[in-house]
Amino acid sequence: MHISPLLIVILALIGALGAPDIILGVQPAQAQAGKKGGPGALTPLAESAMSPLIDTHAHLDFTRFADYSATLDGLIKTMDDFKVEKTILMPTPQGGIVGQKMHDFPQLLPALQKYPGRIMLMAGPGAFGELYFQKAAAAITDADREVFRLKAEALAQLPIVGFGEIGIVHMSIPIMGPQHPYEAVPADHPLLLMLSDIAASHDLAIDIHFDLVPRDMDLPPQLVNPSAQHPNPSRLTQNQEGLERFLAHNRKTKIVWAHVGGEPLATRTPAVVRDLLTRNPNLYMSFRIQRMRPEIAADALSPQGTLKPDWVRVISDFPDRFVMGTDTFYQDGPQARGGDAVGLANLQRLLAQLPPDVARKVAYSNIAQIYRPTTAAPMPPAVELPGSNSLRNAGKKG
Ligand SMILES: [Zn+2]
Repeated sequence: MHISPLLIVILALIGALGAPDIILGVQPAQAQAGKKGGPGALTPLAESAMSPLIDTHAHLDFTRFADYSATLDGLIKTMDDFKVEKTILMPTPQGGIVGQKMHDFPQLLPALQKYPGRIMLMAGPGAFGELYFQKAAAAITDADREVFRLKAEALAQLPIVGFGEIGIVHMSIPIMGPQHPYEAVPADHPLLLMLSDIAASHDLAIDIHFDLVPRDMDLPPQLVNPSAQHPNPSRLTQNQEGLERFLAHNRKTKIVWAHVGGEPLATRTPAVVRDLLTRNPNLYMSFRIQRMRPEIAADALSPQGTLKPDWVRVISDFPDRFVMGTDTFYQDGPQARGGDAVGLANLQRLLAQLPPDVARKVAYSNIAQIYRPTTAAPMPPAVELPGSNSLRNAGKKG
């Protein structure tokens, strides 16, 4: 394999050289996805009822697959089954745990190279997540800023469509297992504000994971997990003001807030979503439908698969501001595939209940307005698929 000098510099800057055993050990949501809201009661989705769509938020589950190539082929098959024309793959959002193994662009690059017409990439958490997660805002020095800037600028030279999944506030979810961590920084951390400026200067989107705490509150009982290695605090502090400062910092930066329509704190109700979209013109949201509780306003679908009326209204009033993002963790085993199917089928159900012109935007045509094209940066030379043993063994360390 030939590697150009430029790529060596970039890979060195993002900390990827000499680290084939990347990866972190979090449990995927998909195995449980079908069990949360009883979608077993749903009628099957006819293929004729599906819209072509772009999935703006998915992962490769490096901890669970043995065969990278087979995982990619299975991913494409799942995409074909659900009319997903393109998928944006991105590293998982962690970075706040010392010594945690993380993957990033170098490990995802083979997916882009094998299926350049179907896959797009985001990058960032493995390259610079630790820098903002593990150092408080007040302790950040000019030297820290410079290291962060170099890493983010190096990523921006690669064929990525944005920075993501950028963890900011991430709740530990008990059913995801003891390794699924709580991590949180203020959204207006100086390095995140710098990231916003760098993203704007390269026309890159930022995909964020941010569990919203509109006001101080006790931890909901379902998120208490005594066996979690990095547990949620028992009292949650308001974080919305920091988020709004992050959004307002550079209005040229397009920020895609992931997982609307079914998130752990259930705080993103249609009313909250409407308010934030009204006041923040650079804010977008991607739907992930894994919870379908009738009484929870933040869950977009009912257990019967009906898109709730308040959600129809807010999507129709802001048709340019929503996209789809399954949060699928692709692997080569059969276990996650059923989960992928549940998440994708739910997004198709959501689309089928929108006015057709709105559905087309949300499913597909908004993407070109939000993300930088892959072709905006040169493709690095081809790399071999990482060995399956190193991937799997690395996953067990997490
Ligand atoms: Zn996420």
